[in-house]
Amino acid sequence: RDLATLLLSRIRDVADYPEPGVMFKDITPLLADPEAFTALTDAFAGIAERTGATKVVGLEARGFILGAPVAVRAGLGFVPVRKAGKLPGATLSQAYDLEYGSAEIEVHAEDLCGDDRVLVVDDVLATGGTAEASLQLIHRAGARVAGVAVLMELSFLDGRARLEAALRGAPLESL
Ligand code: 5GP
Repeated sequence: RDLATLLLSRIRDVADYPEPGVMFKDITPLLADPEAFTALTDAFAGIAERTGATKVVGLEARGFILGAPVAVRAGLGFVPVRKAGKLPGATLSQAYDLEYGSAEIEVHAEDLCGDDRVLVVDDVLATGGTAEASLQLIHRAGARVAGVAVLMELSFLDGRARLEAALRGAPLESL
């Protein structure tokens, strides 16, 4: 069966979550299905190999669940990008705008170096704000971006356009 069809069949639409008017894409049925979770991990690992990635960055929190097995499968290190205040060591921080207010994410500066090519993994690309901030962190750490790989892209929010400059020519792949 076609990969996209398999993956889509394991994503649940939840109306009015976390607030009225939002249709939330729930990936927990996919995680619970070994065939779909393995197929997703293999597809992401293929992207890591094709893009020459040396590290996988996962975005808190679902990017941790999806990214860690990709790193293991591809034989790469895993680096968490966390919400502000969660990492104990010396961090780089990046603030970004939300629809209402702002958010901040961080990475341990010592986990990325100038030789690294980094693949960012997350479940959903919505406005692109989180992914864009993560790319800015990678650049500021002195590493290069191999690409961004997401399970789903909510194309009506145009996150792809928001990421374009920070990608610096690297690919955005959505399954
Ligand atoms: P963005 O910064 O692109 O607006 O939002 C992306 C972040 O919000 C991702 O880390 C993603 O996990 C989360 N997110 C936004 N919308 C959804 C959704 O419908 N389903 C899931 N699972 N995550 C979402």
